[in-house]
Amino acid sequence: MELQEIDTQTEQLLHKRSNFEVRQKLAAVRAEQQSCQNQLDGVGMQRVEILTRQKRLEDEAAIVRNKADTGDNRLYSGEITAIRDLQAMQDEIAGLRSRQSLLEEQAIEALLEAEGLDKQSQTLVQQKNAADELQTVLKAELDAAESEIDEQIAALVAKRSQINSLVEDATVADYERLRETFGPSTAVRFDPVSGCGCPQDMPAVEVARVKRCDAGTVLNCSECGRLVLR
Ligand SMILES: [Zn+2]
Repeated sequence: MELQEIDTQTEQLLHKRSNFEVRQKLAAVRAEQQSCQNQLDGVGMQRVEILTRQKRLEDEAAIVRNKADTGDNRLYSGEITAIRDLQAMQDEIAGLRSRQSLLEEQAIEALLEAEGLDKQSQTLVQQKNAADELQTVLKAELDAAESEIDEQIAALVAKRSQINSLVEDATVADYERLRETFGPSTAVRFDPVSGCGCPQDMPAVEVARVKRCDAGTVLNCSECGRLVLR
């Protein structure tokens, strides 16, 4: 009976151990950390793309500006004299300048977009840091709760082996086999009034058989198979 009590307590502690509320909180925080990291990765990739585009726009703007500058130099060098050619040159330069400013505007827009992503990423880093801190606290809480319960379990294990050595090996083996079926009510104390203490009623013949046995005898209930302690 003591062995059974210890096993029941141990099972309850193990159940409690695997169902700590802090475990769920910890899982939620870990999910949050992962989500922050995924978002950070996404924002980081977007930022690289945008900055690549911004660089390309700036390079293109520089090429166009150079062409326009070269045009300006030629325009004022005096080497072109025909009015019509000068007019054509001016038109070409105006076109280049407008293309240049368009590209520069797009480059600035890209830069602003990248800055927006920087802010987003800072917020995410803060969020992730908060989750990291909470995770550390919760982990410590879980470790403490686990080691406390582990101590209790260890004490029960020690007590169990002590009791185990006092009971016949065959009886312990019997009990352990039956426990898989009957759990915490594998061994029951014989009760002459109610029959046997089993959930099933024990036939009168069986009750009489048990009654004839000496106190302390361990029998199997012929009705359900539980261990009956006379
Ligand atoms: Zn029974």
